[in-house]
Amino acid sequence: MIKMEKVNKHFGPLHVLVDVDLTVKPGEKLVVIGPSGSGKSTLIRCMNLLERPSSGRVVVDGVDITAPGAPLTKVRQSVAMVFQQFNLYPHKTVLENVTMAPILVKGVPKEAAEASGLAYLERVGLKHKAGAYPSQLSGGQQQRVAIARALNMHPKIMLFDEPTSALDPEMVQEVLDVMVGLSQEGITMVVVTHEMGFAREVADRVIFMDSGQILEEGPPEHFFEAPTHERTKLFLSRIL
Ligand code: ADP
Ligand code: MG
Repeated sequence: MIKMEKVNKHFGPLHVLVDVDLTVKPGEKLVVIGPSGSGKSTLIRCMNLLERPSSGRVVVDGVDITAPGAPLTKVRQSVAMVFQQFNLYPHKTVLENVTMAPILVKGVPKEAAEASGLAYLERVGLKHKAGAYPSQLSGGQQQRVAIARALNMHPKIMLFDEPTSALDPEMVQEVLDVMVGLSQEGITMVVVTHEMGFAREVADRVIFMDSGQILEEGPPEHFFEAPTHERTKLFLSRIL
């Protein structure tokens, strides 16, 4: 579903991704962990061209999205992203937030976008808030709306960049619960998170990034019980 080949990313003098090779299979749940500044966000932003690699190739669902003239809008439609900051439109209702992109970007008829939008809101437990404004919702609820909004684009891949990091502790679990539910439905997921319980429960594979490289990877059992690298051990000892 995603294939990165020798991907490098420079920001001026900073070499943020160093020859990254990574393959994500259809339906796979990949969890990305690593210290702050190690390149996790840049890595997943290269998967939907929010960042363009300085060199290397990124192929998504058979399309080389790094090729000149790649269909950027189509890529963004099939690879949805949920951010740490939910970025809902404050002056639009919950339902309008969830239906805007399908209507404006994909040309979905309003009625159809609302029907599927309400179904996704129900999935995240917020159908009853369809007419509310973001400011009337808690952080956890806003993030669940952001997930419903991403789903309403019917993406093939969902990218999550620390989706619970900005939440008050008591709201983390309701968002993780939605993500666990989602993981049981065959969608390909790449999740940057420090929630190790989630990683153990959901991940098919965990990768550990350090200084722009994938230092270690493996199924969560291996990863948490018997990490190979000193850097991984040190990182886990600090967060577990
Ligand atoms: P992580 O998500 O693991 O914390 P990031 O991918 O956000 O790491 O950042 C990796 C490095 O790249 C950091 O040193 C960060 O400061 C730098 N960086 C990220 N985005 C930009 C940018 N747009 N311009 C300049 N430097 C950036
Ligand atoms: Mg980040």
